[in-house]
Amino acid sequence: MADRPLKKFKADLHIHSCLSPCGDWDMSPKRIIQKSQEAGLDLIAICDHNTIENAGVAMREGKKQGVQVLPGMEVCSKEEVHILALFEELDPARQMQAYVYANLPGENKPEVFGCQVVANENDEVIAENPRLLIGATRLGLHDIVEKTHELGGLSLCCHVDRPAYGIINQLGFIPADLALDGVEVSRHVKLTDAHKTVAGIEKFSCITTSDAHFLADIGKVWTVFQMAEPTIAEIRKSLLQQGGRRILV
Ligand SMILES: [Zn+2]
Ligand SMILES: [Zn+2]
Repeated sequence: MADRPLKKFKADLHIHSCLSPCGDWDMSPKRIIQKSQEAGLDLIAICDHNTIENAGVAMREGKKQGVQVLPGMEVCSKEEVHILALFEELDPARQMQAYVYANLPGENKPEVFGCQVVANENDEVIAENPRLLIGATRLGLHDIVEKTHELGGLSLCCHVDRPAYGIINQLGFIPADLALDGVEVSRHVKLTDAHKTVAGIEKFSCITTSDAHFLADIGKVWTVFQMAEPTIAEIRKSLLQQGGRRILV
């Protein structure tokens, strides 16, 4: 049987919402979708710090506007390394969130770190999250990767080129037994140059994302996936370069 035809998907798999304390008020799920559509993105992931509570609204809004939205999270490990956990459905993402919340100490101080707003599809505030979302969890990197995989998700180390919360700066290297699906470089590094300029990522597939905290940052950089459909299974195949799936650079 012939394989399904492959298409190009313009993707930004790391966008914060107004639920991240550092995320702008304007980053409501509804406006993120509008801006993503204007930027011609086919696929995005909402990845707030240590939480997925704005992902469901964004997924529903994305469906209306023709933007595929994955629920994700930027987890902060006890080593103070940021790591993306990407899922297909809300249910495993919620289970990941429960695991993270159980290991996330502290309370937010909005006046110091910023507000953490859960919004609905009409841009109304539903709640403020009281947890210290910007904080580090008690979870080691290996625990986070293992749990993400157990729940069917993908695990990528964030902004590996950056000093703050990037694994190479924090640990000096990527542990050989860390079962990452790939790494992300920040918008400060061109995807075409990533393997040449960032030491230590040679054996990993690499994506770039906006890591947007402001609407204006959405669409500044993106990754093009050549795959059959915008799903976690197909992204995984693209990262592994299986069946013609790949990342176009
Ligand atoms: Zn980060
Ligand atoms: Zn981020």
